[in-house]
Formats: sequence, C-alpha cells, structure tokens
Amino acid sequence: MLTFHSDKTSLRQANTELHDGTLVTPFESPERVALILACLKQAQLGEIREPPALGLAPVLAVHDRGYVDFLQSCWQRWQAAGHAGEAMANIWPARTLRDDRIPKSVSGQLGYYALAAETAITDGTFEAAMASKDVALAAVAHTLASGEPSFGLCRPPGHHAAFDQFGGYCFFNNAAIAAQYARDAGKKRVAILDVDFHHGNGTQQIFFDRDDVLFVSIHGDPAVTFPYYLGYADETGRGPGEGFNVNYPLPPGTDVATWLATLDQALADIQAFDPELVVISLGVDIFEGDPISAFTFKNDDFVTLGERLATLKRPTTFLLEGGYAVADIGVNVVNVLRGFGGDSGRA
Ligand SMILES: [Zn+2]
Repeated sequence: MLTFHSDKTSLRQANTELHDGTLVTPFESPERVALILACLKQAQLGEIREPPALGLAPVLAVHDRGYVDFLQSCWQRWQAAGHAGEAMANIWPARTLRDDRIPKSVSGQLGYYALAAETAITDGTFEAAMASKDVALAAVAHTLASGEPSFGLCRPPGHHAAFDQFGGYCFFNNAAIAAQYARDAGKKRVAILDVDFHHGNGTQQIFFDRDDVLFVSIHGDPAVTFPYYLGYADETGRGPGEGFNVNYPLPPGTDVATWLATLDQALADIQAFDPELVVISLGVDIFEGDPISAFTFKNDDFVTLGERLATLKRPTTFLLEGGYAVADIGVNVVNVLRGFGGDSGRA
C-alpha cells in the first residue's frame, strides 16, 4: 500500500498540554510519525511518497476563512502581544456569554476558535497542519486515480477540528478535506468511518446537514469521555443530512468482540449508502495500552480490523488520527494496513 508522508508534519513541536491539571509534554508528538514510518519500512508495506503542496483552497472548502486566517497568524500575534508561553485559550464564549462577536485580541480569538484548552498553538503549528492536509489530499488523490488503497500519515490529526474550531490536537480536518476533495472531483457519495477512540466531533459538524457524505463513528461514550459534548446516538443528521450521521458510543472498557460486532453494523450502514470512496479516520488509540483512552484492542486485533474493513471492497483511503501508546503505535497501524491488504502474516 502506498503511504504519503511529509517531514514538515514534524514542524509542530509543542511543549505544553494541559492535562490532569498540570502542563505536560503533549501526548500528540512528532515521535508518533517517526515510529510509524520505521514500522512501515520494516514491514516493507510499500513505497512512501512526499505529497505536493496544494495551498489553502481545499481547506477553505470545509473551513471558515476567518478561522484559517486566525490559525495562520495566531503564533506571531501571540508573541507580539508579549505572552511568555505557548498560545492556549483560557476563556470561551460559554453558554451565558455572546458568541456573535469575534473579539479583536488574540487571547479573545483563541477562546472563540478553540473548543478545548489542552491544545496549544506554537511556532510551526500552521505549517504542520498544512503539510498534514497535503498528506491527506495526496492519499485520497491516489485512491481516486488508481482505485488502490492508500495511507496518509497525517499529523497533526484532524477529526476534532470543526468548521471554525480547533482542539483535541486537531487544526484542519484532514478527513473532511479529503472527502470534500473527492466530492469536488466528481464522486457522488463518500463515507467516512471514524474508528478513533474519541468521537470525531469536527467531521460530524462539518457534514451534519449533508446527504452526500455519510459519517459513521464508533467511540467512547461522550457521557464519560472526551469530547463530552457531541457523539451521542441520537445525533443522526439535520435537514437533508437526516440519517447520514451514525454514532455508536460504547462504554470505556468495551471488549473487542463487542467493538467488532459494532463495526459490522457500521460496515452495513456504509454498504447501504453505496459510497464511491471510503475514508477511514484511523485512530489506533483503541489500543489497550493507550494512555488517554479506554478500549481494549491488543496488537493482533488491529489485523482483524483491517481484514473487516477490506470486506467493504470499496476504494479506501486511511488517514491517521490518534494513537498515543507510542511504543505500539507503529505495529498497530501496520497491522491494520496489512490486514486490509490481505497480508496479515497469519498462518
Ligand atoms: Zn483519539
């Protein structure tokens, strides 16, 4: 399977994440990509290519112009304002405040455009996000042109990024950008299947009113897991999008058999939609050893995941989302891709 990767994704080198009431080194680190790359090479899974730089037009197809301008200018403005640390929001247009006016100051805009506090904007963040969406676009373009599967080694991840909000380590919604690119290239129906432990709130929000992009997600129950305020089963789409958003929240600790039975339901939803392209938001934080998640996949279960996804027999693009158990992140990603390609290594 062809992989797309850019060294520029490592330009994001954040030092701080708000976690457990303290500032820690972010779980979402450049090391994640390096370890996956090493495992891909060791497994000889296929060629690894650099993506071309495609600019902002595909981003603006799913994101707000003011939001994109903010991401591009935030770090310089934050520094110019004399702040010492990395750019983090500490106030929001919460339910009792107004959200119909965008403040002028960078601090106020941070809260307006952030959906969570853990994710800092730093030098290189915008450039890494640009490279990440270029990786996604090159991967989906390859699948569209060839019908062959592809893997986009995206970093930063994307599925928490909404039309005009960042958070959960995400800035541009790579899966949404790829799906919209396929629509603009003439594909009538695109399905996005999100298997990350966390609900893909951004992807859901971007396509919630639409019937041309089906969003299906299996994730930790938002009543008890991040992102808490979206991801329930009764969120089924709105207007023309009614019935084209499918959430399968599962309790923390859900066993693999139950998870895979849920996957079978999700795959049936996708087959009924008859998509011309499937984008997999591939979070491997469903691994039992993940430090910020609570599902129970073991290394070999990721092979099974890949095998089941292959039963769709659809043109498929995999895009990396989460996965923070770095010692196992490479083998878990490779296992999915090998399972999908029929090279599971199983006797
Ligand atoms: Zn996740």
